[in-house]
Amino acid sequence: MPRITHHGDQNIPERKRMVNADLFISEAAISDMIGHAEKGAAENSEVMGLLVGRIYGDDKGIYAEADKAVTAGLHADEVSVRFDHSDMTRLFDALDDLDFEYVIVGWYHSHIGIGCFMSETDVQTHSSAFGESGFAVVIDPVKEELKVFKGSVNGTEEASMVVKESHTQMA
Ligand SMILES: [Zn+2]
Repeated sequence: MPRITHHGDQNIPERKRMVNADLFISEAAISDMIGHAEKGAAENSEVMGLLVGRIYGDDKGIYAEADKAVTAGLHADEVSVRFDHSDMTRLFDALDDLDFEYVIVGWYHSHIGIGCFMSETDVQTHSSAFGESGFAVVIDPVKEELKVFKGSVNGTEEASMVVKESHTQMA
């Protein structure tokens, strides 16, 4: 079963971050999300997927590393997942097939030409899956925007992100 990050998790390893950001995301994950969003936009479809990686904690709180962006079916040719908030469960099920240890640290979805924000429905989707934790990346391939939000007591709030080069991952 996929493990979804939440604040009550007792097994969060301690590791001090070098840069004060909430989410450290790999170039590969960024490029997969943008590619997915662009393919969807070409068909006028919003798309969604999940971010998997690891959760850490330090004296400033919880932060996450996202290594991979995955979508339903987890096959490169299934690029056009039509956006439907009920798909979240289907995505979680699809992750059962992954054969490595991972934590779902968040999700992403695209907007087409309206900019990056969390709609009321987006906030509800986030809260029902992640509660007050987890990350939501919103991509608008038409406006060429990308923003990241994190779960909070108020639903979601904008978060800070650092992109890490995929081949120079720190151990
Ligand atoms: Zn949205």
